[in-house]
Amino acid sequence: MKIRTRAVHAGHHPDRETGAHVVPIYSTSTFAYGSFARGERLFAGEEPGYIYGRIGNPTVRAFEEKLASLEGAEDAVAFASGMAAISALCNTLLAPGDEIVYLAPLYGGTEGYFLETLTRFGVRVTGGKSVEELPELISPATRLIYLETPTNPTLRIYDLEAVARIARARGVLSVVDNTFATPYLTRPLEHGIEVVLHSATKYLGGHGDCLAGVLAGPKELMEHIRAEGLRHIGAALGAFEAYLMLRGLKTLPLRMEAHCEGAARVAEYLSAHPAVQRVHYPGLSAHPGHEVAKRQMQGFGGLVSLELESKQAAALFLDSLKLFTQAVSLGDVESLATHPASTTHQLLPPEVRQAHGVSDALVRLSVGIEDPQDLIADLEQALDQVAKALLRSR
Ligand SMILES: *Cc1c(COP(=O)(O)O)cnc(C)c1O
Repeated sequence: MKIRTRAVHAGHHPDRETGAHVVPIYSTSTFAYGSFARGERLFAGEEPGYIYGRIGNPTVRAFEEKLASLEGAEDAVAFASGMAAISALCNTLLAPGDEIVYLAPLYGGTEGYFLETLTRFGVRVTGGKSVEELPELISPATRLIYLETPTNPTLRIYDLEAVARIARARGVLSVVDNTFATPYLTRPLEHGIEVVLHSATKYLGGHGDCLAGVLAGPKELMEHIRAEGLRHIGAALGAFEAYLMLRGLKTLPLRMEAHCEGAARVAEYLSAHPAVQRVHYPGLSAHPGHEVAKRQMQGFGGLVSLELESKQAAALFLDSLKLFTQAVSLGDVESLATHPASTTHQLLPPEVRQAHGVSDALVRLSVGIEDPQDLIADLEQALDQVAKALLRSR
């Protein structure tokens, strides 16, 4: 079935007991065995069933099934946040002496976890900047190739098929953080990638009302991660959050269409504005990743970054916005705006920030599903303030 149908129906079965049409919130920590013998069978793995909320819950399971269906994966495992999913994956698969090769830039939390936490446990972490470098970076100790596309905040595009080809040839597991694209725009597994993960906090939930994370991939690997990374670390998703995810995912295709349309209109508008020095959006033909994005994305996403003349101009622009809220995160129905250099990327050394393309004048927009005309009007009045200030200073 098509993705819009799967977004609504996958993982969705009327409740067997009550016939409830919508998946109920199973707010329970434990599950009755019913009998001594069944308890024994459940624990021996001879009978499927729920035992304890940290390892499985019916509402959470429905979310996992829906997400697996959307990504075209055999199975999925949900977590309390995106970082919980990433750390459960690594803690399950890596041992001292193993190596991760990643393609920069990564989400700040992921990079911090790799460089500060995993290295403390004897895992080697090596960063590359292009797919061409990968064959040289991979060593016999390499277990994972890890990347994001589009990347934060300059929306660099990596060619998933090229990465998957190299990873498979070298027997290394490829992992893609698909948070920015969502399965509606890109399904990395269809391009040969083996594991997909999400900060479901962002577009999957879509309403900015809860945190969640999820991994999707081969059944055996997901079972391994559920048995170890989920069970031992314990960052399980709550039933209420899973319910919000299920509710959000039903409209993912509709929301993504609106995000893409809004972002394309905003990017086009900003590109023509004299106060804007540069616009990063994979949908623009001048974007260096445009051709690859056209091939592997169904649309170009809801994020747009722009560069103004200076940090002061960026600050005035952000403070002048009325519809866009200044806040981190992305993928909400409401439009958000951030200044990465002073917030999410503040603690990075300036030369690392520069290498990531995060200048002091860069602003990142997460374009919501509001009417693009209203968003553009808001951007226009904020840019007018910037232009006026510039005139005054001359
Ligand atoms: C937000 C984010 C994460 C971390 O997810 P949390 O749900 O905040 O733990 C990981 N990767 C990307 C690309 C993100 O945007």
